[in-house]
Amino acid sequence: MSRILRVVLHSRPGKNGEPIPENFRVEEGTLQTDLKPGEVLVRTLYLSVDPYMRCRMNDDTGTDYISPWALSECVDGGGVGVVESSCHDAFSEGDTATSFSWRWQTHDVVEGGRLQKLDPELVNGRLSYFLGAVGMPGLTALLGVREKGHVKAGANQTMVVSGAAGACGSLAGQIGRLDGCTRVVGICGSERKCQVLVSELGFTSAVNYRHGDVSAALRESCPDGVDVYFDNVGGPVSDAVIAQMNKDGHVILCGQISQYNKDVPYPPPLKKETQEALLRNNITRERFMVLNYMEKHEAGLLQLSQWVKAGQLKVLETITNGIENMGVAFCSMMTGGNVGKQIVKISD
Ligand code: NDP
Repeated sequence: MSRILRVVLHSRPGKNGEPIPENFRVEEGTLQTDLKPGEVLVRTLYLSVDPYMRCRMNDDTGTDYISPWALSECVDGGGVGVVESSCHDAFSEGDTATSFSWRWQTHDVVEGGRLQKLDPELVNGRLSYFLGAVGMPGLTALLGVREKGHVKAGANQTMVVSGAAGACGSLAGQIGRLDGCTRVVGICGSERKCQVLVSELGFTSAVNYRHGDVSAALRESCPDGVDVYFDNVGGPVSDAVIAQMNKDGHVILCGQISQYNKDVPYPPPLKKETQEALLRNNITRERFMVLNYMEKHEAGLLQLSQWVKAGQLKVLETITNGIENMGVAFCSMMTGGNVGKQIVKISD
């Protein structure tokens, strides 16, 4: 028996409410650490907070592929940890493991079959990267661009990325450049983030959507119009981008975070002018879901690992310490407090 800390859902923000840290509650508990055959004892190293978790806070997520978190029950999501003891053939003490449904606990006993073993070599020992650049956000950026972006080297394309300083966006823009876009323009929520995109990540230019005339700034940044739009945010930012898209362009419909605190279906309805612009200009806007491409994940992770190791893909992270700060980190990410992937470090 050992003492642990865990995070439970304390209250729901309501479908139209902004989440607050107090929606989560930290509890002390005990964990039975005598393992049954097939079980593994893990210590949590890093936990991920992600925008999709906002819909798990509702009593109905509105989708069939993720379930709501139950009140007063332990919350779960992407996590990485180290095996402390194992009664499962595939795991030994000291192994690194991950899961999409890692409980927000300092330690846990898990069926080995629910864990994937990780090779720390893929990330040069930077294990938090498995929750970001060499994990689900990296795959989202890579497969989003490759499956829906129609990027062709030498075609003189301009790509715009919204949510560009976040986990997926910061990688999507760099991948657009690596795959051959001539111009990559990021849209994000502060001057500091704009600076980082251009000076550290190699974006051609960046636009702060919270300041000034976004359409005018975009026109200046995209003198030849927009060919590919990696959309993480939806709402007025996306209306402004789509209005400047060229004929036969492509929207990668990755996410619509500006609408996640509203009770609207996914994807949220577009305004009439935006719908008309899509039709008039023969622009594709297909929904992209990283989980629909499981067969491409292994090769994708290898590609991401190679780029990261070679320094071709720069990784940004915002790391918050302590399981007691999971709620704070989640809410901060939802309101733009992160640069790059928001991670919470649980133990050394
Ligand atoms: P981020 O790291 O990008 O964090 C969220 C960011 O969203 C914040 O940093 C903030 O940055 C921005 N934001 C918040 N509110 C608004 C708003 N009202 N308007 C514009 N921007 C806003 O998160 P992820 O990279 O994990 O996720 C990005 C998107 O990708 C989300 O929409 C998510 O749902 C989606 N996604 C989709 C997947 C798929 O399979 N389709 C898989 C994974 C993620 P700022 O300071 O710039 O406002």
